[in-house]
Amino acid sequence: MKYVVCLGDGMSDWPIPELGNLTPLQAAHTPNMDQLVTLGRGGLAWTVPEGLYPGSDVANMGILGYDPREYYTGRGAIEAAAMGIQLNPNEVVFRCNLVTIQSDIMTSFTSGHISTEQGHEVIGYLNQQLNMDGVRFYAGVGYRHLVVVPDTWLVSATTPPHDLTDQSVVGHWPRGGNEAGMHSLIQRCRAVLANCDINRQRELAGELLVTDIWPWSPGRIPELPSFQSLYQLTGGIRTAVDLLMGLAQLSGLAYPFVSGATGFIGTNYKGKVQAAFDLLRDHDFAFIHIEAPDECGHLGDAKLKCQAIEEFDQYVVGPMLNFAQSRGGVGILVLPDHPTPCAIKTHVREAVPVAIMAPWVTPDAVIRYDEESCARGGLYYETPWALMNEFLGGGRS
Ligand SMILES: [Zn+2]
Repeated sequence: MKYVVCLGDGMSDWPIPELGNLTPLQAAHTPNMDQLVTLGRGGLAWTVPEGLYPGSDVANMGILGYDPREYYTGRGAIEAAAMGIQLNPNEVVFRCNLVTIQSDIMTSFTSGHISTEQGHEVIGYLNQQLNMDGVRFYAGVGYRHLVVVPDTWLVSATTPPHDLTDQSVVGHWPRGGNEAGMHSLIQRCRAVLANCDINRQRELAGELLVTDIWPWSPGRIPELPSFQSLYQLTGGIRTAVDLLMGLAQLSGLAYPFVSGATGFIGTNYKGKVQAAFDLLRDHDFAFIHIEAPDECGHLGDAKLKCQAIEEFDQYVVGPMLNFAQSRGGVGILVLPDHPTPCAIKTHVREAVPVAIMAPWVTPDAVIRYDEESCARGGLYYETPWALMNEFLGGGRS
């Protein structure tokens, strides 16, 4: 048996007036997902435990079979794993955005989408100028970086910077626990950044300045039992996104690199699908993660989201469906990790539509893959690991 998960990040949504009160999944032309659910079964699954923020990290950790209430220690820790960063036992890591804050308003949680090159220079400058014991920064992609600090600076609450766009940051800085350490770090960084060459260049170019760091989602690097020990399967994840690579690293899954993978519309679908086929040659399990629908949801662009869904259907689900039908002995699961409704431009915790086609699955009456049709299907899962346990347990005697 081979098991394939096709995940369209943030793909599910609410009815949108601009689309004639259809959801993007209903409005988009998706012949492959429709055929898949027609040949298989549709249903709903809860992907995020109650009380947890429906982040992609939490949702995908659950979908891989790990209860985030037990294993989730923060987004920074997962991304640190992806970057191969080792932490000492007395250290914690925060995700660290470079941001623009003007008169206490979060003008940009990306410092105007600062380039990776400039981001690396800023992070290098902070490492060089800061001189605070036990503090070190690691540069990531664009505005997304990490900062490692002593665990005595661990705080109990942070706010994701993308939830503060155009809002006051007062009361949202890292807080609770030993917040004083983080506050002194943030203030020192603000002073250092004011003298950074990159900011002079950006000022001349009329671009937003990097005024601050925004540390959030702290934690130690978690220890996950291997995916192989959970399911007696080997495999990998194909993604352009750090945090999925981190989950792969932590769970002992492969995460082949594909050039031209952008995490947005027009990503290198062919390369991603080929990487999944390559995985399936030697392994039992392939997880293909496509980021674009989520990005369109965050932009609030319903038409673009339909396009992202159609590309996912045509370039990812289509080839996998063909593979399953020509080879036999293949189970396919299609789902999003959470809804990212265009109306609110952020994630919500709601059940998501799922479709499973596999030799051991008896078809139900669902013939369209969307929120409403799947709600009438035969599948229902209260947790993502219940879904995965059933999906990955299928077809095995
Ligand atoms: Zn997501």
